[in-house]
Amino acid sequence: MKNWIERWVRPEIRDIKAYHVQPAANMIKLDAMENPYGWPPEMQSAWIERTRYQAFNRYPDPTAESLRHILMQELALSDDQAMVFGNGSDELIQIIMMALSQPGRSVMSPVPTFVMYEMIAKFVGLQFHGVTLQSNFELDLPAFLNAMQQHQPAVVFLAYPNNPTGNAFSRQDIEQIIQQAPGLVVLDEAYNAFADDSFIGDIQHYPNLIVMRTVSKQGLAGFRLGYMIGHQAWMTEFDKVRLPYNINVVTQMGVTFALENSDVLRQQAEQIKQDRTILMQTLSEFSELKVFDSQANFVTLRVPNGQANRIFDGLKQDGVLIKNLSPMGGLLTDCLRVTVGTPNENQAFLNSFSHHLKA
Ligand SMILES: *Cc1c(COP(=O)(O)O)cnc(C)c1O
Repeated sequence: MKNWIERWVRPEIRDIKAYHVQPAANMIKLDAMENPYGWPPEMQSAWIERTRYQAFNRYPDPTAESLRHILMQELALSDDQAMVFGNGSDELIQIIMMALSQPGRSVMSPVPTFVMYEMIAKFVGLQFHGVTLQSNFELDLPAFLNAMQQHQPAVVFLAYPNNPTGNAFSRQDIEQIIQQAPGLVVLDEAYNAFADDSFIGDIQHYPNLIVMRTVSKQGLAGFRLGYMIGHQAWMTEFDKVRLPYNINVVTQMGVTFALENSDVLRQQAEQIKQDRTILMQTLSEFSELKVFDSQANFVTLRVPNGQANRIFDGLKQDGVLIKNLSPMGGLLTDCLRVTVGTPNENQAFLNSFSHHLKA
């Protein structure tokens, strides 16, 4: 068997460590930036009613028009802007890279950042160049601009706010990158529901800017829907790479339905933002911790030297699952990332965390 694999599977694929999802049965799940809240009972009933007469024997609407209409209205896009949907924004990253991939071409992003940029670059045969952030997790602008000069990347990915650090990079720095990039710049606004700023309004000022969003972190992770917004000309090309019917019937219905009830999602995001503030304040009271600023629905912190694995394991034994960033090394050494949950979940985290921090 091994011979077959080694003969035919590309070496760069064999070298990749598969994206690992931690088992989470019966745990307080604070590892994956999910919204902890479900739908209120009357919304659940209305949803069941909505699905009753849906024709599941038919292919979905290939362009998801009714969903597109709702989102385009909400975002007040101009006429020369368009939207492409993906099965999560992960698929959009793949679509963009597939359309741009050619031997010798590269992708750039600051690191540490969302790991899928580098993984998908490898899948599609693009080189990846990461530029290390400053120790406060801000962009190292001179280094980034230099690296762009050197590598001439086909596309730059900037997660805004960034995952796994939680901060939003300086707007001025990002504008410099957009202006000096030789190729496309994708602002990945996965955490926009919890952030203060967006680049959607900037698309009209730059020919090379695309903004990507997802409903995952907003409370609809199970539906898998991402969307990107940019000039019509780019979207026309990317749409050719998209597989037909990539957004299934249930996703189209479900996200449309949820957006019709967007007050519920908005209130949940508000609650999460308030609880993020409380969580950050409480953690800041431990003098031995460094708590990083967050504009996302998670908080990243650095624990005392060499303690991250022990604290992470202790939490896990207490039934609280977070993300241990420390094994990723570099700037993330000794760092943990905790998703903001319900007030009760956050309290359970804090109880267990303070216990293991002191032990
Ligand atoms: C979670 C996350 C995504 C993935 O979103 P999906 O729509 O669930 O695929 C994309 N970008 C960043 C920065 C994320 O943290």
